[in-house]
Amino acid sequence: MSNRKHNFSAGPCTLPLSVLEEAQKEFVDYQGAGMSLIEMSHRGKHFDAVANEAMVLAKEVFGAPDDFSVLFLQGGALLQFSMVPMNLLGANDKAAYVNSGTWAKGAITDAREYGNVYLAWDGESDNFTRMPLSNELQLEENTRYLHITSNETIGGIRIHEWPDVNVPLVGDMSSDYMSRPIPWRKFDLVYGGVQKNLGPAGMAVVFVRKSILEHTNRNIGRYLRYDIQEEKGSMFNTPPVFTIYMLGKVLKWMKAEGGLQAMEHNAIKKSGLLYDAIDGSGSFYNCPVEVASRSHMNVVFRLPSEELEQKFIAEATQSDLLNLKGHRSVGGCRASIYNALPYESVAALVDFMQTFQKTNA
Ligand SMILES: *Cc1c(COP(=O)(O)O)cnc(C)c1O
Repeated sequence: MSNRKHNFSAGPCTLPLSVLEEAQKEFVDYQGAGMSLIEMSHRGKHFDAVANEAMVLAKEVFGAPDDFSVLFLQGGALLQFSMVPMNLLGANDKAAYVNSGTWAKGAITDAREYGNVYLAWDGESDNFTRMPLSNELQLEENTRYLHITSNETIGGIRIHEWPDVNVPLVGDMSSDYMSRPIPWRKFDLVYGGVQKNLGPAGMAVVFVRKSILEHTNRNIGRYLRYDIQEEKGSMFNTPPVFTIYMLGKVLKWMKAEGGLQAMEHNAIKKSGLLYDAIDGSGSFYNCPVEVASRSHMNVVFRLPSEELEQKFIAEATQSDLLNLKGHRSVGGCRASIYNALPYESVAALVDFMQTFQKTNA
């Protein structure tokens, strides 16, 4: 597979080559069944084993304690923006949100449709270049949960200090899912779309604390209820079988690579290499994010002018370094370096950056 290019896409994104090849081998005739896994009943023994293994591995790799259930739900992270308040917010409750950027804003917008929502902190005045510290969070009485976005995919910032507050946390972890350990005791619910660190698009992985399911709202459509989804083992309706199958393979790959610790170690190494290159460029490259809040997954940077940025992206593309354009809402450049992106790809990018600077500075 020598034609694989360096893919810095923010999502869907690079998956482990070994996983892709394994899936290719098994695709037409799954384990001698005479049919593909995606042609079988989702209630049969083959898929049953696949789904069970993925669920067990999701909890194992992320280190989720026994009082959490894992759910596989369609609709991506975006549907969770609605499902969280629909299920958790009672008539007399409030929900607190950290407004840390584009994705947090989306979660806030949707939550406002379902209940009383306020901002515990707002990063807008800092242009979303940093995450808050615990002592900056302002919580009101009767707050059911504090919603955080562990990593803002577009702004390139990540939570570096988990909030130390006396209300349960709900976390959107889409873009740094399973790339570092989390303090489970602080959380009631954790969710994320799978297409950044965990697999192909098609669903969210949701971890929910079992004890809260007795108190979730019942007056919503059945698919949207966490308690029903949990009771049915995420098989209330036909699940996205291919996504679950691939997720299982990616989780197995993560485990074999050394699990969460190895993912975190690699993320620090890869992002460190890139930030060092940016910081060492004498401000030819420039990262607008506060140092402590810098994302280990989405590295954003600017060049001295928009013309140079365009040239940089075009020439990088010709050198097989793909998808380095920043999100259309903020411009600039962004390299997404999720778990499965090889270190060699980041090293190739750094080489290219240094060469480009020499010829264009
Ligand atoms: C990509 C992303 C989303 C949206 O995920 P979908 O699965 O496409 O709905 C939400 N939050 C964050 C932080 C993201 O990076």
